[in-house]
Amino acid sequence: MTIDLPLQAPTAAGLIWQTVRNPDAKSDAEREAILADPGFGQHFTDHMVDVCWSEKGGWHRPRVSPYGPIQLDPAAAVLHYAQEIFEGLKAYRHADGSIWTFRPQANAARMQRSAKRMALPELPESIFLDSIRQLIAVDGAWVPSADETSLYLRPFMFAKEAFLGVRSAKKVAYYLIASPATAYFPGGVKPVNIWLSTEYARAGKGGTGAAKTGGNYASSLLPQAEAAERGCQQVLFLDDDGNLEELGGMNVVLVTKDGRLITPESDSILEGITRDSILQLARDRGLTVEHRKVSIDEWREGAASGEIVGAFACGTAAVVVPIGRLLAEDFEIVHEGDAAAELALSLRDELTGIQYGRVEDRHGWMVRLDA
Ligand SMILES: *Cc1c(COP(=O)(O)O)cnc(C)c1O
Repeated sequence: MTIDLPLQAPTAAGLIWQTVRNPDAKSDAEREAILADPGFGQHFTDHMVDVCWSEKGGWHRPRVSPYGPIQLDPAAAVLHYAQEIFEGLKAYRHADGSIWTFRPQANAARMQRSAKRMALPELPESIFLDSIRQLIAVDGAWVPSADETSLYLRPFMFAKEAFLGVRSAKKVAYYLIASPATAYFPGGVKPVNIWLSTEYARAGKGGTGAAKTGGNYASSLLPQAEAAERGCQQVLFLDDDGNLEELGGMNVVLVTKDGRLITPESDSILEGITRDSILQLARDRGLTVEHRKVSIDEWREGAASGEIVGAFACGTAAVVVPIGRLLAEDFEIVHEGDAAAELALSLRDELTGIQYGRVEDRHGWMVRLDA
């Protein structure tokens, strides 16, 4: 292995990055073959980032190295007590070839909030942003250029200390890996059916629902399988009082007949950056956004009276997806009209337009990665 640039200047965070090039990096032809149809989360770029943290030394030894298996002690705390968090964002290629990402500071801040809840150390924003730039510096060619494709970036952090006692770990690792992603809806965006889970909850009051942590996903897999058995692609969770929370990995927004957008307020949901951005674009259009508790009964009655005309889900991977049908054990809500889906899709187009550099970025959301 060759070590490139072992003496780079310290970054804003005061760290000196080391890059070890992958001697088995894919050839241009192999990479292009993958990028022609990468799917989602199946292929990974040639390199990864990792940064160590210890109670004594703080954040140290930031490096880019060949992508590959990690060695972990079988007693590593994450494997037993799930002290783990992650993030998800994308790198986009613009028509002029440049590479950008969307609101990474918001992901960095959310990762700090997740870290706090899960008793992990907070990664400074500067290291988070550096990690993305460093990976793109070696793997920029992995950002695909076809319509609506992207390089999905997955930062994550876990307790690696080998110790079976129950307390927060004194040794932690931060990693960043990247995976090219096909357009989510190659044939155009299709409405999804969702299953209302009343038997299972995703999170509880005071729990970890607002943290982006693996355990929330583990607990959603069984209800997700139930949803699939009923022909639904996603699950909607409620709180104990019958208020909407969110889907397994996406936030939810209801649309009224007069064009208001209603989205659940809750301290046990994960506050999506996509939702925040879509709602900002809606406010820019003069639409009213209501961020408040909203119950399943309000949705049900509103759909019956014609007051609520549709709903959509939003998150980084799929961006925005209209909800065609909500199926529950003893009732169903069907949204057939076009108005809400058209609004959802037009907000989606505007957001992806900004992300791919086709629409003016009037909020200063885009950050260039390759310059
Ligand atoms: C990541 C995530 C979202 C969506 O967040 P974005 O920042 O929009 O990608 C919504 N809900 C859950 C549970 C999530 O983990």
